[in-house]
Amino acid sequence: VKKIAILTSGGDSQGMNAAVRAVVRSAIFHGIEVYGVQRGYQGLLNNDIFSMDIRSVGDIIQRGGTILQSARCLEFKTLEGQQKGAAILRERGIDGLIVIGGDGSYQGAAKLSALGIKTMGLPGTIDNDISFTDYTIGFDTAVNVVVDAINKLRDTMSSHERSSVVEVMGRHCGDIALHAGLASGAETILIPEVPYDLNEVADRMRQNFEHGKRHSIVIVSEGVGRGEDVADALKERYPSIDPRVTVLGHIQRGGSPTPFDRNLASRLGDFAVRKLIEGDSNKACGVINGQLVATDIEKVVKTKKDFNMEMYELAQRLSQ
Ligand code: ADP
Repeated sequence: VKKIAILTSGGDSQGMNAAVRAVVRSAIFHGIEVYGVQRGYQGLLNNDIFSMDIRSVGDIIQRGGTILQSARCLEFKTLEGQQKGAAILRERGIDGLIVIGGDGSYQGAAKLSALGIKTMGLPGTIDNDISFTDYTIGFDTAVNVVVDAINKLRDTMSSHERSSVVEVMGRHCGDIALHAGLASGAETILIPEVPYDLNEVADRMRQNFEHGKRHSIVIVSEGVGRGEDVADALKERYPSIDPRVTVLGHIQRGGSPTPFDRNLASRLGDFAVRKLIEGDSNKACGVINGQLVATDIEKVVKTKKDFNMEMYELAQRLSQ
């Protein structure tokens, strides 16, 4: 490859900027021209593409969001849209594209690869719902946001002897709830991967209160439903429980990325560039047990991420 482009797509996540910076600087280091595509696949179809240099990615490693902006684009899901995108890149002499995003964005990259553009996907989503990587870019920061919020809730809860239901993001993957739940000592973690019974949850909460527990946190992944509904169901069973509900929402997608996310993004961005230089295509980059890996996009999008049951059971054992 001689010229590559980079775009961010789907939901944004903290660390996307660090990945963009790594791609741009690594490409230039290797003597490759690099272009930014504004607003994801929509920007590609609008030919909203500009040349990037070393300085264009200065002062962004610490910023949340994405300077390239993101968008959803229905047209790109059609073959005509994909052909138009490939043609626009080809006209500019761009033969490689790095896409930072989630599952949907990966599928777009696979389609472009089939049309002759060399593509690499980087996992950019706070949900950690992508297989063949232990972590996605943004996940660690999101977990930090949740833990920080729960620390604050704990202060006021112990003053009032209350329980709290905290709803966090994660549509198909409970990793934010699981990791933040273990780190913040949540009593109950409700996630899509593990069936639960609200009668048991309520009984346990009541027993724990009777045994002197003065505050309890129920963390609910949005994939299992609304925190408000969980709180109502608990209160219906035992009116004395009466939890406060906090919905963290998009706050979880914001803020300065943690060093972990910046370093993950930097390593993956550089890796994706090197893979393109090797002539590889249609791969999703990830890190497994600390090692950088590139896996066929088709395999990644059709494999559900492994769930860490051991960690879930540990969280349960420690939350008596
Ligand atoms: P994410 O990448 O976070 O999963 P989306 O599912 O919204 O987010 O996908 C982002 C964009 O990727 C979509 O707006 C669309 O342009 C493109 N995309 C999604 N699925 C496909 C697909 N099957 N084929 C081609 N492009 C797709």
